[in-house]
Amino acid sequence: MSLIDLRSDTVTRPGPEMRRVMAEAEVGDDVFRDDPTVDRLENLAAGMLGKEAGLFVASGTQSNLCALLTHCGRGDEYIVGQQAHTYIHEGGGGAALGGIQPQPLDLEADGTLNLQKVESLIKPDDYHYARTRLLCLENTTNGRVLPGGHAEEARALVDRHGLSLHLDGARLFNAAVRADRPVTELAAPFDSVSICLSKGLGAPVGSVLTGSADFIVEARRWRKVVGGGMRQSGLLAAAGIHALEHHVERLVDDHANARRLAEGLAREEGCEVDMELVQTNMVYVRLPEEKRDELPGRLKERGILVYPGNPMRLVTHLDVSPADIERVVEAFTGIL
Ligand SMILES: *Cc1c(COP(=O)(O)O)cnc(C)c1O
Repeated sequence: MSLIDLRSDTVTRPGPEMRRVMAEAEVGDDVFRDDPTVDRLENLAAGMLGKEAGLFVASGTQSNLCALLTHCGRGDEYIVGQQAHTYIHEGGGGAALGGIQPQPLDLEADGTLNLQKVESLIKPDDYHYARTRLLCLENTTNGRVLPGGHAEEARALVDRHGLSLHLDGARLFNAAVRADRPVTELAAPFDSVSICLSKGLGAPVGSVLTGSADFIVEARRWRKVVGGGMRQSGLLAAAGIHALEHHVERLVDDHANARRLAEGLAREEGCEVDMELVQTNMVYVRLPEEKRDELPGRLKERGILVYPGNPMRLVTHLDVSPADIERVVEAFTGIL
């Protein structure tokens, strides 16, 4: 029985074709700027996002950290969603390593920030306050696509106040595919955009930070400082190129599988699924009280891996098929 892993879209294993291009990649020492495959990946990602330059980094966390360190200095401040990955799931790196103060505020139900509140949080130019430098958004957030127009309004706001605008676009391609908009359009309002190759795109490692040529020169310095200078990383970049060339359009399959899963679970006695939230590859299901605790263990006996939680988050990806979705729904039916 094959394992069905719904814990995250980070669990995908590189397939034979991806492994082949990795094995055959032309490499050099990227710290010497000698690795042609890394250059190709950085140019490809930047081009796809409509930015001047890109920087291949080890992870999304490192990407957002390099962005923070580039946009902000010690004693500066960035405004960010209280539930945003950059604020809550990245170990406070901006504060720990950059002396950058976060100013968090609650995300709205649709994943946006209330821009009036954001504006009221921008500090006056007065030495009692940290200097507000940056606003950070996320797309997708918990599988939801940032509503159209929000990023453009955020752009107008930062322009009024001389701030920069960063996007944690770990799953930006999911958003573009779902919204049926060119990813360049979703990236356009931002000074810098980070994308993950190792989530739904199915590469084993890596993210790319993109922005202006000058921004990336500075971010490249910070990547080195945080220990992210890699050598023959063309091996990994080759997987990223393969992911960008072959795994973007197929994200519609993951979204269809998530919808199928959501519909199946919504029919289960005692389960609640907010279908509004099922926009890309994530399903959040509220479980019946009496089964909540045993469910992950019982699913595991049937070869299905999930994280405990209520609502429970289930994530579809490259290694989950429509037949797997059927098996998962049947398992829920059996257990519940
Ligand atoms: C996964 C993720 C990141 C960064 O992830 P790494 O695990 O460090 O690669 C950043 N933002 C969001 C929204 C994510 O989901």
